[in-house]
Amino acid sequence: MGEIKLIGPLKQLLPMTGLDLKGAISDGQLVVLEDAGILIEGEKIISVGKFGDLKENFKNAELHELKGDHTCLPGFIDSHTHICFGGSRASDYAMRNAGKTYLEIAKAGGGIWDTVTQTRKASKEELVKKTAKLANRHLKNGTTTIEVKSGYGLSVVEELKMLRAIREANSSVPSDLVSTCLAAHTLPKDFEGSAEDYLEEIGTKLFPILKKEKLTNRIDAFIEESAFSAKQIAPYFEKAKEMGFDVTVHADQFSTSGSKVAVDFNAVSADHLEASTQKEIELLAKSNVIATALPGASLGLGCNL
Ligand SMILES: [Zn+2]
Repeated sequence: MGEIKLIGPLKQLLPMTGLDLKGAISDGQLVVLEDAGILIEGEKIISVGKFGDLKENFKNAELHELKGDHTCLPGFIDSHTHICFGGSRASDYAMRNAGKTYLEIAKAGGGIWDTVTQTRKASKEELVKKTAKLANRHLKNGTTTIEVKSGYGLSVVEELKMLRAIREANSSVPSDLVSTCLAAHTLPKDFEGSAEDYLEEIGTKLFPILKKEKLTNRIDAFIEESAFSAKQIAPYFEKAKEMGFDVTVHADQFSTSGSKVAVDFNAVSADHLEASTQKEIELLAKSNVIATALPGASLGLGCNL
């Protein structure tokens, strides 16, 4: 039995327990405990309730008494981030403010490819430092679990550098970083061969190392006109599933087709969905795929969607 601690009193405590995992949650379903306490054993919460009652019933607990009014709720989870990268997107931002679109910026040498170039130039240590710094900034806003994608290496060696950097960053921050391999972010400009050849190379050469080094259990793909088609991704996801990976999709950001792939492959999630129509919404609603809206992406890109 570990050491027992009692933290409180909290003016409000929202345990968020017993809520449906799917569908809308109404305010009425939220349980708010007042004058509450949290009882912790080791690293586990073993009970929540009235602070006075817990204090009375667990007299041996180490007391962490709080002053002032506090509200406590579970840490936020950010299930889609790209906080591991080199360089910055400042010039993209300037182009965007000058009225250029996402595709125009990409064609002008900005966007994903510019970040790929900068990320390849960065050392693994630099990436670790930057990722940890951004994770700590998220933590200050209450985000305690952060998914982090690769996808700016776009070669076996460079994707490994990113995923190893994410793992190292994870061990240097208090929050939990969950890594995802996004080698299928876009076809790298310097790859000599077709999109199919590239995905085949990643599947055969990178996937086994990801398994061996336990670098990630998640394979992501960007399904879009500027990235990969549903047809190109199908064998890639088949291989990933055969090897026991979970899959997830950057879907319906500018055009639809990604969410159908997500449903067909029973993906963990379909993320973005700015371009989804009623058809895609119904398809996702009938499936177990978690629909993840990323409105911040549209705001950042200045889209009208
Ligand atoms: Zn993304």
